[in-house]
Amino acid sequence: MENKNVFTVPVSGLALGNHSFRFEVNDDFFAERDYSEVQQGHVVVQLDIERSEHRLVLHFDLEGSVRVVCDRCADSFDLPIAAEQEFFLKLGSELKEEADNVIVLPADQQEFDLGDLIYEFIILAIPMHRVHSEGQCNEEVMQYLSEHEYVEEEETENDPRWSALKNYKIEDN
Ligand SMILES: [Zn+2]
Repeated sequence: MENKNVFTVPVSGLALGNHSFRFEVNDDFFAERDYSEVQQGHVVVQLDIERSEHRLVLHFDLEGSVRVVCDRCADSFDLPIAAEQEFFLKLGSELKEEADNVIVLPADQQEFDLGDLIYEFIILAIPMHRVHSEGQCNEEVMQYLSEHEYVEEEETENDPRWSALKNYKIEDN
């Protein structure tokens, strides 16, 4: 993975004061993470770092979209996401996770890889309920659902008609 370093920031060598960085996350970023439910997306990360003597305050501003499956019609779509996060890197004696958003690094640490952190922030930005905007759902599926309203009330997962429809959709693509 030769582009692994794309998400690193300098630590010990970073001058005191404010700094800005910009990162772009694309499909490769998700593909490198086999375990990821999200496998496609494009997110721009604007990072502002405030460096003081013993601490770096990282302010992340994420904006973009990720490919998810619609809870209503089961088609994939690009869900817009946006999030802001704050994270602290403290300079101390040894590597230690002090809190959810605080990591202590050895004072002479050259750089820090933000890849996993950015991934975590993107996943956190995805809502539990993921649906197309009103009117954007797969028309065939919506038609089917409206003709078979019981699907909403009854057990949908074991309904053979529902499974048959899902299979039909996969072949269709
Ligand atoms: Zn939908």
